[in-house]
Amino acid sequence: MSSRTFWVGGNWKMNGSVAAIKELTNTFNAGNVSSDVEVVIGAPFVYVHLLSETLRKDWAVAGENCYVKASGAYTGEISPEMLKDVGAKWVIVGHSERRNILNESDEFTAEKCVKALAAGLKVSLCVGELLEEREAGITQQVVERQLGAVVKALKEEDWANIVIAYEPVWAIGTGKVATPEQAQETHAAIREYLKTAVSPKVAAETRIVYGGSVNAKNCKEAAQKPDVDGFLVGGASLKPEFLDIVNAAQ
Ligand code: PGA
Repeated sequence: MSSRTFWVGGNWKMNGSVAAIKELTNTFNAGNVSSDVEVVIGAPFVYVHLLSETLRKDWAVAGENCYVKASGAYTGEISPEMLKDVGAKWVIVGHSERRNILNESDEFTAEKCVKALAAGLKVSLCVGELLEEREAGITQQVVERQLGAVVKALKEEDWANIVIAYEPVWAIGTGKVATPEQAQETHAAIREYLKTAVSPKVAAETRIVYGGSVNAKNCKEAAQKPDVDGFLVGGASLKPEFLDIVNAAQ
């Protein structure tokens, strides 16, 4: 067993309503979960405050994105400072839906990490390849390019507040989960990369979690892999089965 605390994040994406969130929060709050797991729930901006007031206090709340300025004339944007102000402790940065639908660059993503950390948030940094990139055999190159921009922008000590979520884009919301072996292989390669790009200490201590069609059935086997330190869960985090995923390593 590694010394890295198992981490499970929920990513609700653009889903939910006040009523639905209250119901789900009640279910999560009543759930019997291990205290050895760090749990973070990402909610749409407009529900972050509600969730941080009502969610069990041993779990934390995340924004699903943030901007790179603290305040000002940036219509429609939300700063890391604002997320912190309404109770978020984390922010998800670089999700593939932002990279691929909103065309956000590696550099912009890295800047978000810098600004979020400076505001006192922890960051769940998402990386992952498209199907055609996996088929072209360039998964590792893509992931290293995405991570490289962040490595360039951060100091070594910043990595203590980063969790890397490896999310192959072809596995997100498709029901096509990466095999535990595929996840392990890429996670181990990311750890190897961090060793030389940042430091052996950061490589050993940084949590690398898997995301992409994780559910209560497929999480147990992946959780046993030595470099899989948890999960970032989309669809299944909107259901009671999320509690089983939180307990995957037990
Ligand atoms: P999924 O999403 O679990 O619904 O595949 C994962 C994610 O996008 O974080």
